[in-house]
Formats: sequence, structure tokens, C-alpha cells
Amino acid sequence: MNKLKRNTISESKVSAVKINSNGVTDYSLFNQLPSAVYCCDTEGNLTSFNSAAIKLWDNVPEVQTSKWCGSFKVYNVDGVLLQELALPMAKCVKSAKAIDGEEVIIENRSGEQKFVKVYPSPIFNEQGLLTGGICTLIEVTDQKKHDAKQAMLASIIESSNDAIISKTLQGVITSWNAGAQRIFGYTEAEVLGKRIEILIPPDRFNEEKQILAQLRKGNKVKHFETVRLTKDGKEIQISLTISPMKDKNGKIIGASKIARDITQQKKVEQDLIYHYGQLEILNAIGKVISEKLNVTEILQHVVDALTKITGAEFGICYYDTLTNCAESEVIFANTNCHVDGLKALTKANTAYFNPKHIKKSIIRLDNLNKDFNPEYGISVSSYLAVPIVSKSDKLLGSLFFGHNEVAKFTAAHEAIAINIASQTSVALDNATLFEEVKSLSLKKDQFIARASHEIKTPLTSIHGYLQLLGKEFVDGRSKLFLNKALNQLDKLNSLIAALFDLSKITSGKLTLDLKEVDLSVLINEIIDNYEVDANKTHQLILIKNLGSFVVKADKQRIEQVVLNLLNNAIKYSPNENKVIVELENNNTEILVHIQDYGMGISAEQQQQIFAQFYRADGVSANISGLGVGLHISKEIIECHNGRIWVNSELGEGARFSFALPVVN
Ligand code: ADP
Repeated sequence: MNKLKRNTISESKVSAVKINSNGVTDYSLFNQLPSAVYCCDTEGNLTSFNSAAIKLWDNVPEVQTSKWCGSFKVYNVDGVLLQELALPMAKCVKSAKAIDGEEVIIENRSGEQKFVKVYPSPIFNEQGLLTGGICTLIEVTDQKKHDAKQAMLASIIESSNDAIISKTLQGVITSWNAGAQRIFGYTEAEVLGKRIEILIPPDRFNEEKQILAQLRKGNKVKHFETVRLTKDGKEIQISLTISPMKDKNGKIIGASKIARDITQQKKVEQDLIYHYGQLEILNAIGKVISEKLNVTEILQHVVDALTKITGAEFGICYYDTLTNCAESEVIFANTNCHVDGLKALTKANTAYFNPKHIKKSIIRLDNLNKDFNPEYGISVSSYLAVPIVSKSDKLLGSLFFGHNEVAKFTAAHEAIAINIASQTSVALDNATLFEEVKSLSLKKDQFIARASHEIKTPLTSIHGYLQLLGKEFVDGRSKLFLNKALNQLDKLNSLIAALFDLSKITSGKLTLDLKEVDLSVLINEIIDNYEVDANKTHQLILIKNLGSFVVKADKQRIEQVVLNLLNNAIKYSPNENKVIVELENNNTEILVHIQDYGMGISAEQQQQIFAQFYRADGVSANISGLGVGLHISKEIIECHNGRIWVNSELGEGARFSFALPVVN
């Protein structure tokens, strides 16, 4: 038995333990204790332990043989396995000094580990001799886990890019992480205990009241986008998520708030919206430029769009629609600005807003600082001028943009303006060409109208004289020639009539004399006339379905259409001898189909045969014609609110049809 003297701490700690005559602690006394307690003699042999110790160790050690401790293995907190004499109980007994809560890790046979705080104390007998030690073990595994979790959370909070702040329900800040410092600029010391309002712009104080009201009800506020103030008074856009914080009993005691700085994100969003808007404008202007042929419309669109894109206060375009150049005072201004003021600008003869002064170069100035027209309130700081130059390097027009504020126009604006100006010059060239084509086409129409009129008059006289001649006594040979001449004259007349009709159609002067017409009667008459024609080549067969075939129409014009379709059917089926005409009433329309078995028309040609002067290539090209018959027929039918179409395949004949509304 060790003869070391006891110290004062151990004295107080062992005061409750009863030692029997063998120096062994009374087992039954501490068996009741909730904490694990065990004793050993000076050699480390376990002399007693309570049931809490058995539970903690997960082991029933063999009394007198287990040394210093009843657990399978013991490690220090760094995970190093402790040898016998390094065990806290051994250290305590060997030094006769109590150890106040050394932390160790104990492990059972299945490798399960627990964190334990050990409080070994030496035991002295009545003579003051050391008889062994008594040790209390307190498990701190949960505490350790909790501490580790807390440490982990704290490090997550600290390393978060977002501001994580907690506050009381009264709005007093209770915690503040590094993210909060980075976003708002305040250090933790500067804000702890301060009211959250230091971060809120005064006009949003109400917001905080509403947020607190929600929190008191236990509600979470998610991704609430708002504005907050930094330490230096700058407004930043943030997204807030605020959750109520509860104590152990579930009582709401405050709020945790995660704030993310979304200023950059918002800027990107706004930039996106802005660029999307710019793209839309560009698309729209591209469409106008490529589709429109009206100069005024194009230029107005260009000025309006570029004014919007550049953010200018006003935009002007100089272009003379008559001379196709910039050297004039014809302007197309956007509506932002007083047009009279802009006109006055031009007259001011400045080097800036006068088309005569701008050459073919681009000018962009940040601070022109000119008060051009105080009367109209036009002063210009930012200035952008872009010429519109044709392919042949002629200055067609010029675009000017101005803004009262400095540095409004960027290099990007300039690039867009240059791009649009060059597209505009192409559009202006196209528009000019279109105008030329239109005026030539008008001249052509006028010529056809005049020529057909001029030719018609002598033809009528020739026809009259030839008829007179025919009534005179003439021999058989002369009569034959006379008839041939009259026949050719008829052909010439119908050609002239077609040209005359065409000019009427193009000038919109086709008039109709509408009466009730029975198409069955009309077509029968036409067929009868053909039957007696000495030159007839085909048999015309009429098929009628049941019903009435009365339409409201201009009889002569419809006759013209039927004749044209029949003539074509005969003309374009030279090797056949049959044409079928079919009449149909489908209750809403009267339909006329003319079917031949001739050369037919390809799908591609079908798209164009109703166009003016179109004649299909190929075999039909060798057959004489002007290419106006179908066009005139279409116009006539459409003037009657009807429709006309063709079904055909090349080499398989053609079936032309038209439909006119029935008379109710
Ligand atoms: P034209 O017969 O005087 O050339 P149209 O306007 O009547 O003029 O017809 C236009 C073109 O359509 C013709 O040149 C011909 O190529 C084609 N076409 C019209 N009718 C037929 C048909 N029945 N069969 C084949 N091709 C036809």
C-alpha cells in the first residue's frame, strides 16, 4: 500500500465513499449513483464499479484483473491509444493527485466510441495511507457532437458569401458574419446591439415592420427582393430570406436573415432586358428596311429606332425624296423633339446640324456643349452624326442624334448607327429602283392603253370597208381572200381587245354590268356557235348536273372567260379532239369545269399562269398567244366575287375551273 499523503481536493471528493476493512469501497453505496463511478487499488486492480459504469463501458470488467479502467480501449482526444500508466486513473493514483475532468475517448469491443470526462481522485484510509483511487466518468459525447456541429455551422456561416444576420423580434442585431461585413461594410463590433434599421433606407422602414409581423406569426419570408443601405450610404439590391428563430420550447425569440447582394445580378438582368429590347428594335428595323419600299416610311422608322437605341433626346434624318440626296432640307425627325426647333437648327448653318456640312465621316462627341436653340429648348452635349452613303459612294442622307447630357453615345451606339445607316442606304437604293420600275410600268400601261385605242379605230374602219367590199360583186377567189382577211382582222381585234381590257384592269377601270345570267344557256350558245364554225377541230361535250345555273354576272365578261378557257383547251391540245365542259351547282356556288386532254401544265407553272404576260416554257411556247387571257379571266372572276383555279399535270391535260356565287 502506497504511503503518500492525501491532498485536499481528494479529501473532499471521497468524503461520501465508505471504505470497508479491506480498503475496498462499499459497492452497494454508489451503485445507485446516476454517474459512472469505479474504484481501484494502488496497483490499478478494479475493486468496484457501479452499474452506470458498466453501461458506459459496455463491459463488465473482471474485478481485480482489469487495470485502471473498465473500458476495452482508451484514447486521448487526439486519438492516440493510451497505455496503462497513461490512463487518468493510473496518473492520479501514481501521483496521489486528483485530475479534474480529463477528456478521453473510450471504445467498447465493437469499436463504438464515446467521449468521456474523467475525474479520478486518490483514496486514503483512516491512517492517511493511499489505498487506491475512485473515478467518476461523465459522458460528453452529445455535448461534443453538439459543439462540433456548432463549430461547423459557425464556420459555414463565416465562410458564406451571403450576409447571415440574426436579430431579436425587436429588430436588434445579435449576430453578424463576415459576409454581412463584406456586403454592408460594417464590422461585427459596429453593429451588434444596434437596430437593423441602420441597413434600411428610411422609405422602406415599413417593410421591416411587415417582415417582423410575419416572423411573429412564425412565417418565413422567402427571396424577398429589396434595397438596403451599406455603411457608406450606397443603395444595394438584395434578396432576403428571413426565418423565425425559436428557443428550445418553440417560442419565437428572433429572426435569422440571409441577405444576398443581387446588385450585379439585377444589373445583368437589366442589361439583358435592355439588349433584348435593342435586338427587338433592330429586328423590327431590319424588317422595315428589307420589306418596305416607301422611302418616307423607311426613314421615319430608322430615325425613330435609332433614337430609341441610342437613348437620344432627338434624332433627325436629312434626305430629299426627289433628288435622292442629303443636300436639302427635307427632314424626318422623331417625335421627341420640336420639329420647328430642328428646322431652325438646320437653318442655323452650324457645322453640326446642317446636311451641307456633314461629309461622309462619322462624328461622335461627348460634350459639344452648345445651346443651339434656346427658343425651342434645344441644347446639345452628346452628339452623333452618321452619313448614309450609297454603294456608288454618293451621300444620300445624314442621321443626327443629340442629347442634353454629356457622354450619352457609346462606341456600341455608333457601331449600330453605322450598321443601320448602311442597311438604310441599300433600302433607299431599292426604294429608288422600285420607284423607277413603278414609273416605267405606269408608262408601259399608258402606252398599251393608248396604242390599243389608236389601233382599234383604224381596225374598225378596215373591218367596215372589207364588209362593204364583200357586199359588192366579187368573184369566188376574191371572196375567199376577203373572208381570210376578215378572219385575221377578227383575231387582231380580239388581241387588241385583250390589251384594252388589260389596261382597264391595271388602271382599275374594269366595270361590270351585272344581271342574272343562266350559265347553262350561255355555254350552250357558245358551243352551238362553235359547232357551226368551219374551222372546228374538237368536239365540245357539255355535262350538266342537276339544279339551276343562274348567277349574277356581266354576261359579256363571263362569256369572255368561258371563251378564253375553251380556246386555250382547244389551242393547247392540238393532237386531241375532245373538250369536256361540266356545270355543277353545289348550292353555294355554280362551278364550271373545262377539261382538255392536251399538254397539261406543271405544278411550278401553275403558280404563275394567272400572272400578267406569263407564258409557260416548253411545248406550249410554240403556240401563239400574249399571255394575258388567264390574267384577265382571273380579274373578271374575282370582280364577281368568284374564284378560278387549275388542276393539271404535265402531259395529262388540264382542267380549268371557275366558281361564281349562286343567286339567292
Ligand atoms: P396565252 O394562251 O395567250 O399564252 P393565257 O393567259 O391564256 O395566255 O395562258 C397563259 C399560259 O398558260 C399559256 O401560255 C400556256 O402556257 C398556259 N395554258 C393556258 N391554258 C392551258 C391549257 N389548257 N393547257 C396547257 N397550258 C395552258
